[in-house]
Amino acid sequence: MHTRDGTRLFLYDSASRGSVLFAPADPERVRIYTCGPTVYRYAHIGNLRTYLLTDLLVRTLRVLGYGTFAVQNITDMGHMHQEQLEEGEDKVIAAARAAGKSAREIAAFFTEAYFRDCRRMAFLPADAYPRASEHVPEMIALVRALEERGAVYGGGGYLYFDVSKVPGYGALSGAALGEGAPAERTDPGGHLHKKRPEDFVLWMPAEPGREFQWDSPWGRGWPGWHSECAAMAIRHLGPEFDLHVGGIDLRFPHHENSRALATVATGKRFAALWLHAAHLLVDGKKMSKSAGNEYTLDDLETGPPGGGKGFSAVDFRYYCMTLHYATPMNFTWVGQAAAARARSRLLAAFRRAALAATSGEDAAAASRLEFREAISDDLNMPRALAVVHKVLRSGIGGEAARALATEWDAVLGVGMLSEAECDSGVGGVREGEAEEIPAEVAAMAQERESRRRAGDYPAADALRERIRAAGYDVLDAAGGAAVLRKIG
Ligand SMILES: [Zn+2]
Repeated sequence: MHTRDGTRLFLYDSASRGSVLFAPADPERVRIYTCGPTVYRYAHIGNLRTYLLTDLLVRTLRVLGYGTFAVQNITDMGHMHQEQLEEGEDKVIAAARAAGKSAREIAAFFTEAYFRDCRRMAFLPADAYPRASEHVPEMIALVRALEERGAVYGGGGYLYFDVSKVPGYGALSGAALGEGAPAERTDPGGHLHKKRPEDFVLWMPAEPGREFQWDSPWGRGWPGWHSECAAMAIRHLGPEFDLHVGGIDLRFPHHENSRALATVATGKRFAALWLHAAHLLVDGKKMSKSAGNEYTLDDLETGPPGGGKGFSAVDFRYYCMTLHYATPMNFTWVGQAAAARARSRLLAAFRRAALAATSGEDAAAASRLEFREAISDDLNMPRALAVVHKVLRSGIGGEAARALATEWDAVLGVGMLSEAECDSGVGGVREGEAEEIPAEVAAMAQERESRRRAGDYPAADALRERIRAAGYDVLDAAGGAAVLRKIG
C-alpha cells in the first residue's frame, strides 16, 4: 500500500521487532494513543523527548496525507502514597501538601505546566487528553469484563489479573514468565496475595487519607495503573487502533499489561503497532532529583549549572531530532549548544535563501522527495535534517526555498518560517501572500477556543473536526493562542 502521495511509510514495531509497512484501518483517521504525563511533578527533558516522538509521528502522517486522531492521557491519580512522601521521593508533593494543597489542585497545576511545556516544544495538541480520574467507570467496566472471563482473583482487598489466562503474554516486551520482578508501582501493600510476579493489581483499597477513591463492586478503592490506560484507550479509540506510543521504560510491565487486559476484556487486538522512544541520559548518567540532573525546560533556559548561555525548548527539540528516536540520547550542554548553533545556521540560511531570487527548482524537487523518504523511513529525522542542510548548499532560492521551508517545518517544527518572517523583514511580502481566513472558519475557531477554555472538550473537538473539514486546522501556538492554518 502507498500513502496518499506515493511514499510508503515504514515504522519499526516494537511488538513484532521488525519494520512494518504502515497500513492503517482508516487513512482519514489514523488512531494513536500515547501514555501521557503523571501530573505531580514537572516534565523533565527525558519525558519531553518521548512526547516528541508522538509529535513527529503525527506531523509526518499529516504531511504524507493521512488524517490523525491522537489521544494522550493525563495520569492525575496515584503516586500519593504516604510511604513515598516519607521517603522524600517527591518533594514537590510534600511541599504542596505542606502548603495545604489537595491532590486535585496539585494535578491541575502540573497539568497546566505540562501543556505550557508542550506549547514551548511546538507539539501539535492531541485531539483528546483524557484524565484518568474522569474514566473510573470505564476502568470498573473493564475489570468486570475480565472477571466474566475468569481472569481475575482477589485477596486482602486487592484484585489481581491472572496473566496465565493470556495466550502469548510476554510477547510484546520479551519478558519471560516467572522471571520478572514483582513490578508494580501502584501496589505497595498487596504483593502477599499475588500468585506470580507478573500478575498485577486491577483494583486496590484506598489507604487512609487518599483523596482519589471510588465505590466499586469490590469495595471503595482505586484502579491499577495498567487498567487506567487500557480503559482510556478503548474508550477514545475503540478496542482496535493503529499506534501505541510511549517511552521504552513503559514497555514492561505497563504496555505488556495494558495489552494483556485489553485483549482479554474485548477479544480484540488493541494496538496494531507499538512505538517506543529510547532513554535520555544526562552526561552519561540516569537523571534523578538527587543527582540534580533531572532537567526541565526552565533549567535549559537558565543554562548550565556553572553559568553560560541558556537554550530554548525548540533548541532542545532540534537537539533531539539529530538522533533517531530509538537511539539512546546522551544530553550534554556542549551537545545542546552545538545543536542550537546548527539550528540558528539553518534558520539564517533559509532566511537568506528566501530573500534571494528564485532558483534551484530541480534541486528542490529532488530534495523534497529525499526528505519524504527520510521521514517515511521510521521517522528518520537525522536523515531529514541532513537533506535540509544539503539543499541549502545547492543554491536554492526565492519561492522554491520558501515552499520547502513551509513543507519541512510542518514536520520539523523548528521555526524555519516564523523566524525567517520576523527577523528578515520578509514579513511584508508574506503578509501580501497571506490567505484570508473565511469568516465562518474564524468564527468556529473562536467558538472552539471558548468551549475549550470552559472545559467542554467534546464540543471543542467537534468544532475542530468541522474546521478541518473546511480545510483548516487550529494549532495552539507558542504564545498559547489558537491560530488557524490551511491544511495541505
Ligand atoms: Zn499508559
